[in-house]
Amino acid sequence: MNASTQDFSSRRRAAALDVAVVGGGMVGAAAALALARAGFSVALLEARAPAAWDASAEVDLRVVGLAPSSITLLNELDVWTSIRAARVGPYAHMHVWDAESGAAIDFDAASEGREQLGCIVENNLVQWTLWQALSEASVRCLCPAEVRGFEARGERIQLELADGGNLSAALLVAADGAASPLRQQAGIGTRGRDYAQRAVVAHVATERPHQNTAWQRFLPGGPLALLPLADGRSSIVWSLPEAEARRVLALDDRGFLDALGVASDFRLGRMLASTPRAGFPLKLQLAERYQAERFVLLGDAAHAVHPLAGQGVNLGLRDVAELRDTLVDARAAGRDIGAAHVLRRYARRRRSADTLDALGFDALARIYAWQSPPLVAARSVGVRLLDRLAPLKRRLADHAAGL
Ligand SMILES: Cc1cc2nc3c(=O)[nH]c(=O)nc-3n(C[C@H](O)[C@H](O)[C@H](O)COP(=O)(O)OP(=O)(O)OC[C@H]3O[C@@H](n4cnc5c(N)ncnc54)[C@H](O)[C@@H]3O)c2cc1C
Repeated sequence: MNASTQDFSSRRRAAALDVAVVGGGMVGAAAALALARAGFSVALLEARAPAAWDASAEVDLRVVGLAPSSITLLNELDVWTSIRAARVGPYAHMHVWDAESGAAIDFDAASEGREQLGCIVENNLVQWTLWQALSEASVRCLCPAEVRGFEARGERIQLELADGGNLSAALLVAADGAASPLRQQAGIGTRGRDYAQRAVVAHVATERPHQNTAWQRFLPGGPLALLPLADGRSSIVWSLPEAEARRVLALDDRGFLDALGVASDFRLGRMLASTPRAGFPLKLQLAERYQAERFVLLGDAAHAVHPLAGQGVNLGLRDVAELRDTLVDARAAGRDIGAAHVLRRYARRRRSADTLDALGFDALARIYAWQSPPLVAARSVGVRLLDRLAPLKRRLADHAAGL
């Protein structure tokens, strides 16, 4: 099926919806599909239709490392086989090292009893494949559509749309990204900090093969990750202080490739060629609560984290699985799926798990920013110890995998 056969019309309206999901990025689209597959009647409202994924086009600049828990969910939703067949970069090893001390930690799929640690996938491929499955699952896609306002009234929540239309559902799910207009309309504040960093991303051809390994070097200004792509190149995520990021983005290609070679310590040899670059500002942002009346937050609308652990969308997809399970259990018990006590289970479990992870990633960012020699020495002792403590390392790997 292609986009033209889907109903992206903003005129079509749902009568008695169980759930309205706003935001059709990877997390919102997965939520809409998961809830529809679980038998709920669902509408998805998205401001901008996703671009069709095209195998002959350049690899999307935005890629994510999907953890096993995310792959399991996408498998349950019957979309993983298509994504896998299209273009993914599985990785079986991860090598993380400290530019200051050289202390390193390695993760290996085989020693964890797994085939792979995760897969590098284009955001657009995941989003597009999910959208392809939506209409077959009877999700009503309203696109382009924007919510102007909403109000809970009795057992329903009423949505007023920017084009003058309206919708009513038992539950409103906001998956509208880190800037989440719906979170703001619900009066939910956020806490966190601006990292004053920008992640520079590009795909690069390297002199030596990536060896199906996710490489990450912690430099004083921020981490540089080289993630293995299916076509043999590596996708870089280079977190840099703002001014430095602007400078790197402005370099000519040769200057950029040379700077990147030095920053990667030539671990994959010289950098040979690069796609155009893009920069993304980085912040830690946690919603103060995940729930309001007949309303929940999901994905980046609830939590934005530093990409150093490559977990942002993985946390979002764990939110999706938890919300689906919560609503399925509520329905089985004959409860109203939008009732506050039902949503509390989702909100409590996910907010505490996401907060622990987000603060953990933040602690890592702070620890790797240490530059005074005694602190660097303490850090390298810690990392070397961790690398040798197999049970602890396994727990860390299982946690990252979402197991
Ligand atoms: C450089 C970088 C590298 C990253 N690497 C990784 C990684 O390796 N692994 C990982 O797990 N995560 C990674 N992440 C994080 C990951 O990209 C995000 O967590 C994920 O894209 C968030 O998805 P989302 O669907 O929650 O939000 P978004 O992708 O922001 O989607 C929100 C959607 O809502 C729509 N929308 C917004 N407002 C409205 C409105 N008013 N009405 C209707 N629709 C609206 C938008 O158009 C958009 O489609 C990385 C992030 C960055 C910046």
